[in-house]
Amino acid sequence: MSEFNNESVATIETTLNYVDRVLERLRVGTYRSCQVCQTPINEANLMATPLLANCPSHPELA
Ligand SMILES: [Zn+2]
Repeated sequence: MSEFNNESVATIETTLNYVDRVLERLRVGTYRSCQVCQTPINEANLMATPLLANCPSHPELA
């Protein structure tokens, strides 16, 4: 039997939605900018956390 429960599925769906948004931002060229203040995101931070959405002032993920 699968170990997946509804909570696991919800987590996966959230992650996929998040990746979708990152891919869209890559496509339109806003991936490297904070979504809140448009500050360019530090390259090292982006390497450490590829799904990073925002600058350190707005650390919440997309
Ligand atoms: Zn910001």
